[in-house]
Amino acid sequence: MNLQPLTDTFGRQHDYLRISLTDACNLRCVYCMPNETIQVTPSAKLMQAEEIQEIARIFVSLGVKKIRLTGGEPLLRKDAKNIIERLSPLPVELAISTNAVLADQYIETFLANGIRSLNVSLDTLNAEEFLSITKRGDFQKIISNIQLLLSHNFKVKVNMVVMKGINEHAILDFIEWTRNYPLDIRFIEFMPFSGNAWQRDKVFSYADMLELIEKKYTFVKLEDAANDTAKKYKVSNHAGTFAFITTITEPFCGSCNRMRLTADGKMKNCLFSAGETDLLSAFRKGQDITPLILSCLHDKKQERGGRFDFENIENRSMIRIGG
Ligand code: SAM
Ligand code: SF4
Repeated sequence: MNLQPLTDTFGRQHDYLRISLTDACNLRCVYCMPNETIQVTPSAKLMQAEEIQEIARIFVSLGVKKIRLTGGEPLLRKDAKNIIERLSPLPVELAISTNAVLADQYIETFLANGIRSLNVSLDTLNAEEFLSITKRGDFQKIISNIQLLLSHNFKVKVNMVVMKGINEHAILDFIEWTRNYPLDIRFIEFMPFSGNAWQRDKVFSYADMLELIEKKYTFVKLEDAANDTAKKYKVSNHAGTFAFITTITEPFCGSCNRMRLTADGKMKNCLFSAGETDLLSAFRKGQDITPLILSCLHDKKQERGGRFDFENIENRSMIRIGG
């Protein structure tokens, strides 16, 4: 078999790169941003638009077929449009994860640059609860922007982080939302990152979620695509679907095809990896970064960055990795 260069020591082929554009955000989700006074990385230390384009081009030459822009909030970056325009000619599927607060300002940019699918974060359908989770008050804007995206025929996946005792009851509201809207809701098990006060007993597990949903709905399992992190389901007569991302109780590392680039140009071979490789500094010195990329991938551990003691995890906060 002819292995592509981005194959790790466990035979996993990597063709998906998630690029964080910024660690700044217009929301303060409790599970993501460790505290309200987090220092954002100064602009000069971030990958600039041209650097993102060039580094992405190198990954694509090694076999990357999908790039997702993330953050922090990627649409907060003043040059987000420029970056999207620079990446869109690459032979990749270009996707974006956003909180959708600014999505209405980018509809034309998405349409013109082949972005047809968006992942939108939203953890409740109750405005007050939204405020307590995000510490900001843009709930109605997000709902109207999701409706705007649907009216332009974008595929919208809604990511809900489920935290026990905080928002698990909203799971049923989200499923009800799929009755008339072609949304794909993804229920994500709460994951540990530096400073987010994660505890195992705050995880509302995949099994807990299925049990809750079964009390009200009859649903069927859908087929999952290869490398899919989500386990998909559907209430038969509903327009939309729902799925579970079960990082904690049923990790899906065996089929992982993802690599990450932080906004300051560090490569991470796993969301939970302790190490990171500074591609940007080498790139700025004019060095060939391909050997660094390959060596970073070579070090990838079999499962969850080789870390099993989630209670004492040392990692960047999610907002500084890029989810
Ligand atoms: N601002 C954008 C957004 O919210 O979609 C992009 C960045 S955000 C870090 C990417 C994804 O990470 C979101 O879907 C968010 O819900 C998820 N996320 C952040 N912290 C998490 C945690 N502790 N556990 C599970 N998912 C988390
Ligand atoms: Fe911002 Fe997204 Fe993190 Fe919420 S999940 S604080 S919207 S980066």
